[in-house]
Amino acid sequence: MKRSLKFSLKFANIEKQKSLGKLFIEYRKIVNLFLLELFSKNNLSENYLKSLDCQLSYRYKQCAKRQASKIFKSWCRNKKKGEKPIFDGSMILDERFIEVQKGKNSFDYWVKIATLDKGKPIIVPFRSYNYANDYFTKWKLDKGGRLVKNANSWFLILTFEKETLAKKETGKIIGIDIGVKKLIVDSNGKEYGKDIEKLMDKIQRKQQNSKAFKRALKERDYYINKTVKELPLKETKTIVMENIGDIKRNTKKEKRLRKEFRSKFQRWTYPKLMCRIRQLAEANGVHCLLISPAYTSQTCLKCGFVHKLNRNGEIFECRNCGYAADADWNASLNILNLGIAQQAMVAGSMKINNVDKCPLN
Ligand SMILES: [Zn+2]
Repeated sequence: MKRSLKFSLKFANIEKQKSLGKLFIEYRKIVNLFLLELFSKNNLSENYLKSLDCQLSYRYKQCAKRQASKIFKSWCRNKKKGEKPIFDGSMILDERFIEVQKGKNSFDYWVKIATLDKGKPIIVPFRSYNYANDYFTKWKLDKGGRLVKNANSWFLILTFEKETLAKKETGKIIGIDIGVKKLIVDSNGKEYGKDIEKLMDKIQRKQQNSKAFKRALKERDYYINKTVKELPLKETKTIVMENIGDIKRNTKKEKRLRKEFRSKFQRWTYPKLMCRIRQLAEANGVHCLLISPAYTSQTCLKCGFVHKLNRNGEIFECRNCGYAADADWNASLNILNLGIAQQAMVAGSMKINNVDKCPLN
């Protein structure tokens, strides 16, 4: 498995930043030229590469060619009418251009970056941070890296690798629901992240893009990471959750969450939470089972009756049989049941018998 982490290059002095800026402009120009060539001829010939007069060295041109081919391929897969392929703003450089070294003084690491001036690479110190330290010590750092510029600041993106754990053969199955008042409720009725609303309110009160605002965002991210770690992944074999991480913008759940978050939490990072859960599951050898999010919060767990009015904020009360429960818990149990049904279907078609049993049935 792989993880990419971002590091600030804010310690680069003005000269070095200028140097990076020049490199970026030239590199972008060449990648875009390559993309134009690929767009019109579907091919980048060696002759074209050699004849192209520019400030990039031949090796850098090869690197730009590789990236242009990548961008072109992905553009071909998701073609949109009237759009041409363009450089995406991040320079993907291999180990000939980017080299990371451990620092000896107060700076944690150094990165050596080849620039337009041949034989004169720049060296920029950068700091690791709490979350990244584990990756530096326990994971293998991939060679090379990516350089991106965000709002006038340069960042280095490094990729770390570790062998993926084999998925577990035994363990429990749980369903989880993601909510507004509590970040997560699992099918055992356990609630996680009850302070999320407070943190979101705090973000809301700050002036956007102020230092305090950014600090509050960081606090929220830290809280999300911390909360996800509380999930009982050690004893779990399969975790069932709704498939909202994908860009299925029109599902009912998505709409409901959006509506609730829009009023109160503008900066909701729902995809971030999903991503953290999936990453942690992967790291623990836990299967992630995604189910369709339709009606999980409106369905009665007892009688199966589906109605919009079954759910009233945090309370679920069935209009048919009167069953009442915490709305998120009810949803997480529905999610679990859908996951178990999905597994049974797959197992049925594959004639396998070791399907998980719902703990409540
Ligand atoms: Zn009912």
